[in-house]
Amino acid sequence: MTDVQAHEVECDLLVIGGGMAGMSAAGWAAERGARVIVVERAAALGGSAVLSGGVLWTASSPEKMTLYGGGDPALGQVVFDTYPDAVAWLRHREIDISPRMDVLHGQGYQIDIAGHIRGCATLVEQHGGYIMLDTETIELTRDEAGAITGALTRHADGDVLVRAAATLLATGGFQASPELRERFIHPNARDMLLRSNPVSDGAGLRLGEEVGGEVAGTNRGFYGHLVSEPRAWGDERLFVALSQYHSEHALLFNEAGQRFCDETRGDHTNTYETLIQPNARALCVWDRRVHESYATVPVVSIGVAEDKLEVALANGGKGIVAADAAAVGEFASAHGFDGEAIIASLASFNDAARHGWERQHPPRSEDARPIDKAPFYALIVHPAITFTFGGLTIDTGAHVLRSDGSRVAGLFAAGADAAGAYGSGYAGGLALAMTFGITAARSAGWTRKLDVFSTHPFAKATSSA
Ligand SMILES: Cc1cc2nc3c(=O)[nH]c(=O)nc-3n(C[C@H](O)[C@H](O)[C@H](O)COP(=O)(O)OP(=O)(O)OC[C@H]3O[C@@H](n4cnc5c(N)ncnc54)[C@H](O)[C@@H]3O)c2cc1C
Repeated sequence: MTDVQAHEVECDLLVIGGGMAGMSAAGWAAERGARVIVVERAAALGGSAVLSGGVLWTASSPEKMTLYGGGDPALGQVVFDTYPDAVAWLRHREIDISPRMDVLHGQGYQIDIAGHIRGCATLVEQHGGYIMLDTETIELTRDEAGAITGALTRHADGDVLVRAAATLLATGGFQASPELRERFIHPNARDMLLRSNPVSDGAGLRLGEEVGGEVAGTNRGFYGHLVSEPRAWGDERLFVALSQYHSEHALLFNEAGQRFCDETRGDHTNTYETLIQPNARALCVWDRRVHESYATVPVVSIGVAEDKLEVALANGGKGIVAADAAAVGEFASAHGFDGEAIIASLASFNDAARHGWERQHPPRSEDARPIDKAPFYALIVHPAITFTFGGLTIDTGAHVLRSDGSRVAGLFAAGADAAGAYGSGYAGGLALAMTFGITAARSAGWTRKLDVFSTHPFAKATSSA
């Protein structure tokens, strides 16, 4: 597939990074007649997208997007507004889509994610484009006026200069770089566990910054989950199994035995809050009610029902099923936490949960019920990162911006390479990547309307009504 003979190749759209954002942009543009070249550093396409559960979901309303996404409302609105086109496009291409499901503060579908990526690659090749695997991007190239004209790429067989009318950075963020995690997220983030593809180490940021794009340094947010202490980390099959999604119904204590956040804002938010605690770990404590309702029930309806504590313990996790709070305290003390303080904090939480919610500190905004039904469950948890929210500054058309607000002509960023759609929260990673991939392709000129809705089952139903 690699055009190794050609020293120089030309295309309409150069896509750097063949995951969710990049392949969505590539497929969308190719289907509308663009000649697309995709440059992927890994040996295969798909990135984190093909490691994911494939749940393409987002916030149910713009208000929820702003409230829970916590980023720039204008960028969040792009995700919300473009999502219907993304789903319609999948249906039009007959990619398998599940029935609608509730996900956190939104709704979505499980899609055949591998089928989507493969289908986009086929569209690229059908329209005269290329997929270049195992290929590094050395630098972006510019014309005299500073507009981006493509990139110099390097493959084991030699260098290829790709000339392109438009270039999209879609390398999936910087979570695989300990240095960038430390610089942009928190000093503790250097040693954080990586819960994503291992390739996304900030290449998009570097390439964009070198040509004048602004790296928005203030967004420290990231998406991730609390995971049990793994025997060994890196086995992608354990990324979901060891994630403790139910932490939002449990209590989290730091080593000093204190609660430190409103756990009910979500496990992904708890992940950041735990990261910034001393030694970046917490003791997650829950009771029989939470265990039966959440820790043994899949987080989305298509998930696997399994006992999260059992799975954690079978894979090296440190935890306990305890008859009472005193046993939780003993376990905590034996593992470097202040067990006495945890017993006191648990009692004080339960007292406020029963008699004085307004005294709860930190507050408990959602599941405010006591944690008092024996047995108790306790598990040491650590933050693991899936993708970063900081990155290159873009506008609502996915154009990369300079710090003065002007556009770097010919350059776009999408997915985790682009900053700002989410801040403190999260409303879907696949949706963010796919909607901004489509947006970038449109901004690059690939706007032709296809007869997408004619094969949409909902459209058929309404038109025959
Ligand atoms: C275990 C797991 C479960 C998840 N579940 C869900 C879910 O159910 N729903 C959801 O919405 N999100 C989920 N996500 C998150 C989702 O997968 C990501 O948010 C999404 O894939 C990000 O898209 P992206 O295109 O920015 O990055 P990616 O999909 O990771 O693609 C980036 C691509 O760029 C390539 N690349 C990196 N560096 C270079 C370079 N220098 N040159 C060329 N190519 C490069 C990478 O190899 C990769 O192919 C999950 C993630 C994981 C890991």
